[in-house]
Amino acid sequence: MSFFNPGTISRASQPRLRIRATLWQQILQGLRERGGGVRESGAFLLGTGEGAERMATGFVLYDDLDPNCLNEGYVRFDGRYYGRLWELCSRDALSVVADAHTHPHGPGQSHSDRAHPMISIPGHIALIVPNFAHGPISATDIGVYVYRGRHCWTTFRGNRASKVLTIEAEELEIQ
Ligand SMILES: [Zn+2]
Repeated sequence: MSFFNPGTISRASQPRLRIRATLWQQILQGLRERGGGVRESGAFLLGTGEGAERMATGFVLYDDLDPNCLNEGYVRFDGRYYGRLWELCSRDALSVVADAHTHPHGPGQSHSDRAHPMISIPGHIALIVPNFAHGPISATDIGVYVYRGRHCWTTFRGNRASKVLTIEAEELEIQ
């Protein structure tokens, strides 16, 4: 590991996102159920920390905000429904720390994914989950993309995904 990575020069520092394993499993389950193995689905990940260090504490599925957004088989989120998202964030004093959506096969970005970030703010993190979120999905299976503005992204795949995304195993807790 080095302190200077010439591949990720940016005005913003490198964002990092932590998700507890149980929450991650809940997100995958939600994505799986809403996609039904036949269509893409997605979620906004909500949490704390808008800067470099973020922690996901919950999520909201896209189709709970925009009921029609999965009808085409891929995600097509109507901008009018962002108001509901901001209401949720403000009610719970959370921010959008990332988004995640599924693809039928691999976790590569589509042209549309690159051209239309769900949140058009540099530093935004987009996760792409392969296989409609079926099967065991570990951090190295996920496509992790950090938005740099002007339709540019930095890609973190395979072992590099852990530079941005940490799925934390946790001790069993009694809720
Ligand atoms: Zn996509």
